[in-house]
Amino acid sequence: IPFPIFLTSEVIRGFGRGGKQLGIPTANLTDDVVNDALKSAPTGIYFGLAKTDFEKKVRPMVMSLGWNPYFKNEKLSGEIHIIHNYQQDFYETELKTIILGYIRPESNFVNIETLIDEIKRDISFCLKALELPEYKSFYHDKILSH
Ligand code: ADP
Ligand code: MG
Repeated sequence: IPFPIFLTSEVIRGFGRGGKQLGIPTANLTDDVVNDALKSAPTGIYFGLAKTDFEKKVRPMVMSLGWNPYFKNEKLSGEIHIIHNYQQDFYETELKTIILGYIRPESNFVNIETLIDEIKRDISFCLKALELPEYKSFYHDKILSH
C-alpha cells in the first residue's frame, strides 16, 4: 500500500488493558476509519506522525494494526501510541495522523519483557526514520491542522 496514509479518527475506548499497564497506552481508532482506510493494509507495526486536537505540536507515533482476538479475529483494530508522556487521557478527542511507513509484522507473543523490548525498538526505529529529510515536510502538513 502507498504511503502516506492520512487518517482522522475519534479516540475511542478499548478494554483498557495492554496499553497502560505496559506503560504504552494506545489511542484506539474507530472501526469505520480502520475498515475504510486500512482494510487492505498488512497487519503489523507502522510509524508516522499524530496530532491531538488539544495541542499545537505534531508528534511521532507507532501504530499497530491487527485482527482483534477479543472479537474472534473478525474485527480489524488500529491503535496509536503517541511518543509523548501525557499526564491525562484524551478519550473522545479527535486525532489526526499520517502513516508514513511499515516497521514489521505482528510478532507472536512470547512474554511481557520481550513484548516491551520490541515496542521500544519500534519507537527507536520510528524516531530514527523520522529524522530522514523526506519526512520533514509532513510535520508542517496542513492535513494535520484541526
Ligand atoms: P484503551 O484500551 O481504552 O485504548 P489504553 O491502555 O490503550 O486503553 O490507553 C489508551 C488511552 O490512554 C488513550 O485513549 C488516551 O486517552 C490515553 N493516552 C495517554 N497517553 C497516551 C499516548 N502517549 N499515546 C496514546 N494514548 C495515550
Ligand atoms: Mg488502546
